[in-house]
Amino acid sequence: MLYIEEPDSHAHAFGPDSPVIIELIKRLDNLTCYLIKKLEENNLTEKVNLIFLSDHGMDSVSPPHFIDITQYLEPHTYDIAGSSPVLHILPHEGYEEAIYENLTEFSKKQGHFSVFKKDDLLTRWHFKNNPRTPPIFLLADDGYGFQDLAISAEYLSKKFNFKVSNKSKFGVHGYDNLDLKMKPYFVARGPKIKKNKMVIPFWTVDLFALFCEILEVPQLPSNGSLLRVHDVLVSRPYFVQVFPKFVLVAIMVYGVLDLMVFYRYGFFT
Ligand SMILES: [Zn+2]
Repeated sequence: MLYIEEPDSHAHAFGPDSPVIIELIKRLDNLTCYLIKKLEENNLTEKVNLIFLSDHGMDSVSPPHFIDITQYLEPHTYDIAGSSPVLHILPHEGYEEAIYENLTEFSKKQGHFSVFKKDDLLTRWHFKNNPRTPPIFLLADDGYGFQDLAISAEYLSKKFNFKVSNKSKFGVHGYDNLDLKMKPYFVARGPKIKKNKMVIPFWTVDLFALFCEILEVPQLPSNGSLLRVHDVLVSRPYFVQVFPKFVLVAIMVYGVLDLMVFYRYGFFT
């Protein structure tokens, strides 16, 4: 597996739409060409399944959209973990309600972030039943972040040698996973992959099942499913072939049993 830190690293400093990122993508494209050329030269294109993907998308945030939540909190009554666009607030004992109320009030006034108590977190985030999830969770809206971005902006400006202004754009990821800007991409080729096929979007957690199928290793239980991603593959996995027939037989058996029960209790007389 080859993991390349770019364009994520530069996009944090310059925003995903910067010309710097376009140049980086050109360089990464050259690297992709090199890899494919080497596979071709070694007659491996029909033996190797090659997958290119990213682990997330990115949005950009400018300094006027950095939200300082600390101005609404009494010092020394909480700890903060995480980084924009999500912050976890760990109130000190006895301060949970006051902090939640202050942040909720600030959120209504400011209008660009949401406050959740652990129990109110969305079920689809698969996060609220984790014992490590802190009591209060903040999520910034698209294009917004929190005060921690001011510290990263300072760090990035030194690292990449530029001056921070209100027009600077910093790349941020970690917003709601249904946000289209957070979508990663997936491109694949190889003997097990269909050619010229565009598949419907699937979840990143489904990749584990896909990799296991391609590598022919047993798939241990996970939150992903091959059912959503098998269309990428030339041959349909055995259980995907069997599954629709199994459902059809189950519906038929259920229907017959129902009819027998109706008949037994005289619904037809
Ligand atoms: Zn990143």
